[in-house]
Amino acid sequence: MEKVMSVNAGSSSIKFKLYDMPEEKVICSGICERIGHDDGIFEIKYGGDKKERLIVPFKDHEAGVDLITSKLLSLKIVNSLDEIKAIGNRIVQGGKYFNKSAIANDENTAIVRKLIPLAPLHNGAHLVGINAFKKLLPSTLQTLTFDTAFHQTMEEQDYVFPIPYDLTVKYDIRRYGAHGTSHRYVSEVAIKKYLDSKPNTKIISCHLGSGSSITAIKDGKCIATSMGLTPLGGIMMGTRTGDLDPSVMNYICSQTGLSVSDVYTMFNKESGFLGVSGISNDTRDVENAYFNDNNKRAKLAIDLFARRAADFIGQYFVRLGGCDLIIFTAGIGENAAYYREKVLDNLKEAFHIDYDKDINNATIKGKEGVISTKESKIKVVVIPTDEEVVIARDAYNLYKQTK
Ligand code: ADP
Repeated sequence: MEKVMSVNAGSSSIKFKLYDMPEEKVICSGICERIGHDDGIFEIKYGGDKKERLIVPFKDHEAGVDLITSKLLSLKIVNSLDEIKAIGNRIVQGGKYFNKSAIANDENTAIVRKLIPLAPLHNGAHLVGINAFKKLLPSTLQTLTFDTAFHQTMEEQDYVFPIPYDLTVKYDIRRYGAHGTSHRYVSEVAIKKYLDSKPNTKIISCHLGSGSSITAIKDGKCIATSMGLTPLGGIMMGTRTGDLDPSVMNYICSQTGLSVSDVYTMFNKESGFLGVSGISNDTRDVENAYFNDNNKRAKLAIDLFARRAADFIGQYFVRLGGCDLIIFTAGIGENAAYYREKVLDNLKEAFHIDYDKDINNATIKGKEGVISTKESKIKVVVIPTDEEVVIARDAYNLYKQTK
């Protein structure tokens, strides 16, 4: 048994999960939050049901990693840090350079750095995390698992935008997609458990969370995905618009006097569920406002979200030449039965989908299962996602290859 850590470093947080591999047994998990603040939060869950929570100052990411490693030792989760054979890092943007996970050597981390303009909130923070671990665990192998890698199998006509082609080439402006690790995980589970590992399967995977994306997967490979150059594209989200007529940007600027950058922020942070409902980016609040107060804008936000999701599913049905299975995953996909119902109701007539309302209502909070009936022409399943285990698996496999 060897230990591998899966890490997701953001601008002010580090999430971590330690596994025994290859059994994929979770040994502990935790988070350092509010890095850069005097009242940082550290949490660790270990030994089955044990938990520790501390309020501590986190000067920087290194202080976070320092506390993680010292807690692993003091709580006797590991006897020595050498037991950790690899650290797998989540990386949001791998550009056109990575179609699978890779070792975090100088060459590859330089590419992650070069891609910062495409993921300004993420790639820089991932590198800070990698360097913090490198300082404290200099001889531990570190690997990179990219949210974009799974989408690298798209054909050119699926990822090129119809802008002047020389710009596409010069600046690599194209669809990269997101949530690739999640789509990969849930589709692998689906093919094995719900499609008997048959070849040529056609799956539409709906990762619906505060960020959402829908992906068409043929024979285990991504052929189309809804997110674009950045995670702003695709379906409507918590605070993001999803796809828009690009002239909306120009028109808002000309009418309001706001700058391009102001409107870009508005599209990223003040739109989607929050912007349409005027209530919240959280679908639970919007659902409550509709059910408790019959709030019209809450209803509009829900209807808009469901229709945009259904539009993509319809488009991907055509792109795949049919569909064997639809997957729901992530915060909304795993927990929000009402939203699943609304999406499926938009698809019912065209695709002869039939679902069991009671089973749908019961398949929440980490439960996995089929929510469609035997009569349904397309199987519909809920599969809780697990990006961390994919990151740990890839890190472990790369570690084995270096031995
Ligand atoms: P992130 O992109 O932050 O990982 P998640 O996939 O965890 O997001 O999704 C979080 C979102 O899921 C919340 O903002 C909320 O909109 C939605 N959500 C979570 N639980 C429920 C629920 N029980 N009912 C409705 N929506 C939910």
